[in-house]
Amino acid sequence: SIIRMDGVTMVQEDGSYRGMLFHLQDVTDIRRLERMRSEFVANVSHELKTPLAAVKGFTETLLVGGVSDEKTARSFLQIIYDESERLNRLIGDILELSKIESKRIQMDYSPIHLSSFFDTITEMMRAVAEKKRITLDVDVSEELFLEGDEDKLRQIFVNLISNSVNYTQEGGKVEVTAREIPGGDNQDDMIEIVVKDSGIGIPKKDLPRIFERFYRVDKARSRGSGGTGLGLSIVKHLVEQHHGRISVDSEVGVGSSFMIELPILQEMNEM
Ligand code: ADP
Repeated sequence: SIIRMDGVTMVQEDGSYRGMLFHLQDVTDIRRLERMRSEFVANVSHELKTPLAAVKGFTETLLVGGVSDEKTARSFLQIIYDESERLNRLIGDILELSKIESKRIQMDYSPIHLSSFFDTITEMMRAVAEKKRITLDVDVSEELFLEGDEDKLRQIFVNLISNSVNYTQEGGKVEVTAREIPGGDNQDDMIEIVVKDSGIGIPKKDLPRIFERFYRVDKARSRGSGGTGLGLSIVKHLVEQHHGRISVDSEVGVGSSFMIELPILQEMNEM
């Protein structure tokens, strides 16, 4: 622990010495938060600088007329465009995360029919999956409902399914399943949703860290697929806002499963 000590000398009204008053405060948590904050700022700056350096460098080369053929010039422009897009995504994710972390988000709960909910999501993701010839299967019973914020739940599952598609080789498989877990005496009924893929997997040593901001197993691969390294931190926060839990199980070369447990009802938690 880090203890901060402040001392004040106390004097009598006539100016004579009366004693010292000490104030001890455990500032371990405050220090830890300060350190996390400054690490985050350093990471953000680094992440923003990388695409910006590419934009600047390629623009400069074009500006000084260092490229004579049209084809190369076009490829430089494409890089500049892609890197600007990346900056845009990064800034969007950073703003989103800071909004969620400062608890400035309003939850808007409504009953959600899970199988229709996942139909809409898979419809959205189908094209991306088909490009890589990845089978996207949803096995969710018609009877399952839960209370949640639909936009935020969509953000959770779009993120998880995109990751699964991103980190799975051509011809692989992504599967979404859901089941009800009846709660005990003092526990709410929960729904467990699993997003499982037959992808590249995550090494055991990286598993505990993948929900951290900007943590990536393979930076180059994540960048190449347009990742910002913030997706899973956003997902974890959104699951926790729903009073749920997320966990992961994975084996390199076999695939990964992300398990999300969400309470069926929210009002009880809100009180
Ligand atoms: P990114 O934008 O890099 O995908 P995320 O926060 O979504 O960032 O994920 C963090 C890291 O976890 C990824 O860079 C990747 O290394 C790993 N990861 C996430 N999902 C999967 C998955 N389904 N299969 C393999 N690795 C994954």
